[in-house]
Amino acid sequence: MAKQDAPEAGIRTLRVEAPPRSFMDHVLVTLVGEGPHILIDSGYEEGIEKVRPWVMENSGGGPEVLLLTHHHYDHLGGGEAIVEATGARVYAHPVEIELMKERAPGLEPVPLEDGEKIQAGGVELEAFLTPGHSPGHLAFWWKERDILFGGDNVLMPNSTWVGPPRGNLTHYLETLEKIRTLAPRVIFPGHGPPVTDPAGRIEALLRHRAQRETQVLTALSEGLETPEEMAQRIYRGMEERVIQIGTTMIIAHLEKLVEDGRVENREGKYALDA
Ligand SMILES: [Zn+2]
Repeated sequence: MAKQDAPEAGIRTLRVEAPPRSFMDHVLVTLVGEGPHILIDSGYEEGIEKVRPWVMENSGGGPEVLLLTHHHYDHLGGGEAIVEATGARVYAHPVEIELMKERAPGLEPVPLEDGEKIQAGGVELEAFLTPGHSPGHLAFWWKERDILFGGDNVLMPNSTWVGPPRGNLTHYLETLEKIRTLAPRVIFPGHGPPVTDPAGRIEALLRHRAQRETQVLTALSEGLETPEEMAQRIYRGMEERVIQIGTTMIIAHLEKLVEDGRVENREGKYALDA
């Protein structure tokens, strides 16, 4: 069991269990304020029978605003049902709005750019662009309280998945630095417990990615050419599912090394740049 920290006034989270065969085992939806409320993310569509009554009950009949961190289905699947039930205004980054059309065509979010502010009740949240996990991923900064609603950027105990075609590791690492500079007191994430030592967690995540990069460079120096071969080595002994997900992370590492000018991609076969 994770240590339970004292609850933060004005923040309520609901854990929504994932449907079978999902990548993560749960997602969190978060209500902010004392009314009118702001809802951050709406969970899986499959979770709506749990999310909708919880949201209605804890927001006095519905939030005024729904903020979506990014287009991944675990974060917005219930969005259309929530909007239908409450008439909440929905916001997301324009890049994510395009990507949302595939799976949630009925959602019509208002574009929200980096630095724009949203107010409801006495709460003001600032959109904080954090690309990497997804290209237009937004976190939300509650400046008055030094709290960041971080979406999928800084998680515990898992690290954030970054993979093709829409993930970019260079951008993700820049995002971690950007959050470190912002220096939130606590991060309320999209999965897992609140991160009460953001600087320490970011440090650990950067170290983890640096170690993985070293493993990838070692594999390349020993002549391994494909992400699949590298994953078989780096994730040796783990479940097939972990190896598959790991393969996509290794592609993200290889593409970062290509961007850095250290590796060449010759039609899916990678080699150190001589
Ligand atoms: Zn995600």
